Amino acid sequence: MEPSENQESHKVGIIICHRYHRCGGGKCFRALRNREGAFERYQNQPVEVAAYATCDGCPGGNIEYVPEEMAKNGVQTVHFATGMIVGYPPCPYIEYFQSYIENRFGLEVVMGTHPIPEKYRINHEKLGSWNHGNWPEIIEPVMADEQTRLAYN
Ligand code: SF4
Repeated sequence: MEPSENQESHKVGIIICHRYHRCGGGKCFRALRNREGAFERYQNQPVEVAAYATCDGCPGGNIEYVPEEMAKNGVQTVHFATGMIVGYPPCPYIEYFQSYIENRFGLEVVMGTHPIPEKYRINHEKLGSWNHGNWPEIIEPVMADEQTRLAYN
């Protein structure tokens, strides 16, 4: 089903890891346009990025504040940018942040945005970054197939 012009846009907010604060969001916006990675879930509906912010650096002080502004601006779902998953190290607070935002603001939180670039997958496999705890589940929506991961290298 194609998104209908009359259908209301689902509003998302993207929070990025501050170590990538100079990032222009190219991969995230491309993935949203193509409905790839964690944006595959919106295949059948229009989506609007209503907010974009960084966590403000470890240990993520902006997580306490920015979701409130996002909610006021109509954000329904917060996406943690894939950089929080693929950075060195992956964000150690990611699950706490998810729980905090869901409980404090009642917003849905989705792990990831664009597909994991293949070069990061290779390194993290060697490092064993994602083979413990809930990481296998966290990376699942953004793992994509090899061809797609290569396209995001
Ligand atoms: S690792 Fe986590 S807390 Fe630290 S800058 Fe990145 S997203 Fe923020």
